Amino acid sequence: MATIIDGRALAKKINAQTHKRVAKLNQQGIHPGIAVVIAGDDSASLIYTRNKHKKAMKLGINSILRKFPRDISQNELLAEIDNLNKDDSIDAILVQQPLPPQIDQKTITNAILPEKDVDGLNPLNLGKLFANQNTNHPIACTPRGIMRMLKEYEVQLKGQNAVIVGRSILVGKPLLALLNNADATVTMAGRNTRDLTKLTQTADILIVAAGVPHLIGAADVKAGATVIDVGINRLSTGKLTGDVDFDSVKEKAGLITPVPGGVGPMTIATLMEQTVDLAQWRHHG
Ligand code: NAD
Repeated sequence: MATIIDGRALAKKINAQTHKRVAKLNQQGIHPGIAVVIAGDDSASLIYTRNKHKKAMKLGINSILRKFPRDISQNELLAEIDNLNKDDSIDAILVQQPLPPQIDQKTITNAILPEKDVDGLNPLNLGKLFANQNTNHPIACTPRGIMRMLKEYEVQLKGQNAVIVGRSILVGKPLLALLNNADATVTMAGRNTRDLTKLTQTADILIVAAGVPHLIGAADVKAGATVIDVGINRLSTGKLTGDVDFDSVKEKAGLITPVPGGVGPMTIATLMEQTVDLAQWRHHG
């Protein structure tokens, strides 16, 4: 029976540290600020953005929520990003995905000032991550949160086989760089991968971010492996479930994250932590 990684407890610990750091910065006249931008009325996105906004306020971080109609043009959105780039009270800019179809995600990502790119998706920040430059630069929050969980639970990475299922720029790709920088042997799979089971069975560390409910079952997992489930899927019953069949895999894995209560809370805690990092780097270098 696996040890269950408690993402909520670790997130709470990180949030407490963030709260203290904000208070300390406030004494120096620095007030970290985040702007969360949303375009359209996707109900899940609205819930996520409101949660982020509330959490920021709770930790003493100034938060502004910029909500735009679904038919906003790309140029209008770019102008709003430009205003936020120039706004000295804003340290972090987060644009909630998905964006409406008339807007090109990459153009928006590239328009965010790298120093304010709290999602770490600007090519300059991604490039620094892949180049393993130890400068202060933001890293995508979900992957950074996962690395923190692995550290907290003392999971050895060096020389271990890590398999990532899912190749997105938000999760899979930054994780590939982070695990590679930690000297793990990393393989990345996507929907066109042949014989996924054969591959996942080699994983000492298996990270699943495909958005497919119960894609990974016990037969796909090596005994004693660390299994990190990034997926968030809402079933027709309304219940939230991950990409991993938790009940069967927990009997075989060494460590496992639950959904909910695993990666999700860590992503928000990391977002807050990184907002404060950005404020600190901008003011102190
Ligand atoms: P995405 O749709 O951008 O990418 C999914 C990736 O999975 C693709 O690379 C695709 O090739 C791969 N894939 C899809 N089906 C597959 C299959 N059958 N076998 C192998 N690979 C397959 O998704 P994303 O934005 O990376 O999100 C993935 C999941 O993680 C979603 O459920 C999302 O809600 C969740 N998510 C959770 C958090 C969190 O904080 N917990 C953060 C981001 C995303």
